[in-house]
Amino acid sequence: MSFLADLHTHSTASDGQYTPTQLVGLAKQRGLEVLALTDHDTMDGLDEAIREGERLGLRVIRGVELGASEHRNLHLLGYGFSAGTSELSNLCQTMKRSRDERKYRIVDFLAEKGVPVSLEEVEALAGGSIISRPHFAQVMAKRGYVATTREAFDRYLDTEEYQKIERFKADARTCIGAIKASGGMACLAHPYQLGYSEKQLEALVGQLKEYGLDAMECYYPRHTREQTEFYLSLCRKYELYVTGGSDFHGENIKPDISLACVDLNLDWADRNKR
Ligand code: AMP
Ligand code: MN
Ligand code: MN
Ligand code: MN
Repeated sequence: MSFLADLHTHSTASDGQYTPTQLVGLAKQRGLEVLALTDHDTMDGLDEAIREGERLGLRVIRGVELGASEHRNLHLLGYGFSAGTSELSNLCQTMKRSRDERKYRIVDFLAEKGVPVSLEEVEALAGGSIISRPHFAQVMAKRGYVATTREAFDRYLDTEEYQKIERFKADARTCIGAIKASGGMACLAHPYQLGYSEKQLEALVGQLKEYGLDAMECYYPRHTREQTEFYLSLCRKYELYVTGGSDFHGENIKPDISLACVDLNLDWADRNKR
């Protein structure tokens, strides 16, 4: 069966603008039938989103987004894993600890560049347990150090120099292994972001498939038609499920991205409901 779905979204549990409850409400308004909440490195928003989904009659799939160590834009989405303590929840805890160490390094890094940002202000703005770079970017914009959050990334938070203070990440094999050991499906997020040639991407997909990759995010707002076609062909060749999502963070954070409404066959998600 196919459904109108968005399988890639963020809430205040990580770096999104809306609470899980608000996000599910927006998805319902938008006419979605299925939503996956895929916060960075945390499952904290999932129970709330599922409760609101039950109230409004919208199916919410448990999700998470993990950054792998091999490449700064190699991101893996986990779907439909079990609730509670698991290899995946433990990995999220490890990631959270490395974020908690990184936040001090980011403060020092910015101060050295003449951008004295208060950690208290960043933490207050973040609200949830995950401190993410967009939280820093928002405080920098609010304080007038940059005109836009985009500029905060271009000049400070997404530079070669920034990479030196980047946090610990697990490798792709570990991320996929943890997702699968917890009963979930592993999906390669926004493949275009890797900046790879078709040949390089195919080599990566072949490797990830060996680690147990189940799916690839073919539909994504920033994919061109040609890219989408190529990703779909890789899914056929490597027997991967096709997924899609917007990476919605809220218009204050990603102004050009709204919730997607992709028609997806979700039979794979019913293999292990939630
Ligand atoms: P973190 O996981 O804390 O390292 O932050 C990563 C998040 O920052 C991503 O999920 C995006 O939301 C955002 N981000 C990363 N790079 C950029 C960029 N160049 N421009 C705007 N947002 C970015
Ligand atoms: Mn994000
Ligand atoms: Mn991502
Ligand atoms: Mn994302």
